[in-house]
Amino acid sequence: MRGLEGHVERIAICGSIRRGKAMCGDLDLLVGSHDGGPVAARFVTLPEVERVLFRGDGRVEVLLHDRQQVDLRIVAPEQFGAGLHYLTGSALHNIALRTRALRYGIKVSDDGLFVRDTTQLIDPGTTEEAIFAAARLPFIPPELRENTGEIEAAAEGRLPRLVEAADLMGDLHMHTRASDGRGTAREMIDAALALGHRYVAITDHSKALSVANGLDEARLLAQIRHLRALQEEVGERIQVLAGVEVDILGDGALDLDVGVLDRCDWVIASVHSGLDDDATTMTDRMIRAMESGVVDAIGHPTNRRLGERRASALDFERLFAAAARTGVALEINGNPHRMDLDDNACRSAREAGVGLVINTDSHAPHHLPWQEYGLLPARRGGIAPTDVWNCAPFAAMADRRRLRKRSANARVSVSGWEPAAELYVGKAASAHYQADDGPDLAQDGDDANLVERLRGPLDDDLRTRLDDWMRNGGDAALEEALSTWPGHPMATAFSLLTAAPISPDGGP
Ligand SMILES: [Zn+2]
Ligand SMILES: [Zn+2]
Repeated sequence: MRGLEGHVERIAICGSIRRGKAMCGDLDLLVGSHDGGPVAARFVTLPEVERVLFRGDGRVEVLLHDRQQVDLRIVAPEQFGAGLHYLTGSALHNIALRTRALRYGIKVSDDGLFVRDTTQLIDPGTTEEAIFAAARLPFIPPELRENTGEIEAAAEGRLPRLVEAADLMGDLHMHTRASDGRGTAREMIDAALALGHRYVAITDHSKALSVANGLDEARLLAQIRHLRALQEEVGERIQVLAGVEVDILGDGALDLDVGVLDRCDWVIASVHSGLDDDATTMTDRMIRAMESGVVDAIGHPTNRRLGERRASALDFERLFAAAARTGVALEINGNPHRMDLDDNACRSAREAGVGLVINTDSHAPHHLPWQEYGLLPARRGGIAPTDVWNCAPFAAMADRRRLRKRSANARVSVSGWEPAAELYVGKAASAHYQADDGPDLAQDGDDANLVERLRGPLDDDLRTRLDDWMRNGGDAALEEALSTWPGHPMATAFSLLTAAPISPDGGP
C-alpha cells in the first residue's frame, strides 16, 4: 500500500486465493505491522473502497465498488506466520493441524504457539514453518491444505514435489490473427521469448469454427510454411512449432484432413460444439479423436467456463484410460475463465497414468503469463513436473509422438509414461469425496448429556468423535449438541478442539 512503507513490514494474500482455488468469496489480506492504526486508516480511504463493513481492533472489512469484499487483518510482525497459516486455511486443514500439535503438547493459535492448556507462549509463530514444526511436520504448500491426506503424507515424507512456474519450458496452445487471436505469429513468438520459453506452438482454430475464422487445409499448410520462415528469422533462441487446434466434430471425426494434420508438429483436438452431449457421446467423441493417431493432446477437456458454463458431462474413467492407452495428453488450460482440467480431475488423471500439458490458450501476447493459472489446479491436484510433458524439452514429446504414430493402429499404450511414486492422496482422497452420505457412526448411549460433556474438558473419545464428524459428517446427535452454541456447529467444534474462544462467525 503506497505511502505506508514505514508501517507495512509484511503483507500477503491469504484464504482460498492463496490455496489456488478457481473461485473464491472474500479476499483475505494480512499485514504485519508494529503500528496498524495508519495502515487501517489508509486502507479504508483507498479509491476502490465503496464502504466499510466493519472496523475493529486489527481487523477491517470493506466492500469494493465491484462488490468484492476484502478483509484486512493486521498483526504484529512476529505473529505474521501464525496469522498467515490461520488465514490461509482451509478451516479443516487448520483443525487437523491444531489437533495434531495438541498431541505434542502445543496449542497452535492465530497469535502463536502456546503450551497446551496454558497461556504460556512458546513462540510467536513468526514463520509458517514454525507452525508446521509445532505439529512435527515439514512445510505443506498452501494448495494442498484441504485436509484430504496432506497432513498424513507430510508426516510420512510423501508430499509430492509440486510443479512450479520454473519447471515449464514452453506453451503449446495459442492463437494468432490467422483465426481469432489478436497478435501476429511473430508477436506471440516474441512474447514467448520474453518469458524465457524454449519452445512455443502456434495452434489456430480449424474451419468448423467459422466464427473464429478457422483454417481450412490450404490455409493451415500456408501457415505451416509461414511458421517455418519465422523459425529461420528467430533462429535457435526458441523452437517454433507449427500446430493447430482442430475441432472434434459431433461424431468424433476431426475437422481437417488427417494427412494435413500429420504435417503439423503439434496437434490439439478440442470440442467447441455439442457441449451438452451426454457423457457417453462426449467421451466417445474424444476417444475417437485420440484414436486417430494424429492428435497429441485434448484441449480444455471439460469445456467449463467459470461462472458461465458448467463442465460438459464426461466419463472420466474411460477418458483417462483411453488417454493413457493412446499416449495422448490432456490439457490443463490456464485461461483464467477455464482452469480446465480442475484439481480433482488432475489428481485422477495422474493416478490413471495420463500425461498432462499446461497451456495458456492465449488469444493475445499479454495472455502468455496465464500458465500461472494452469499451475494452480495442477498443484492442488498434486501434480509433479514429471507428470507434465511441457516440463521437458520438446524432443521428448517428439519421440513420444513418433512412437505413437508408429503404433497408432496397434491400440497399445505408447506414451512411454512412467508414473512417478504413488501419490499420497489417492485412495484416501477418493474415500473422502465419496463420504457425503456419511458413515453411520453408532454412538454409545450417553448422548443425553453430550452438551455437558462438550462443555467440560474434552476426553479423547469426544475429541476423536469431533474430529470424525468434521471430516465425515453423519453424527446427528453431535451436530445437534454443537448447535446449542451460537454460530456454525463446525466453527464450534473447531473452537472446542483447539480451545480457542468461540466466536459467532467461526474461522476464516
Ligand atoms: Zn478451444
Ligand atoms: Zn484455443
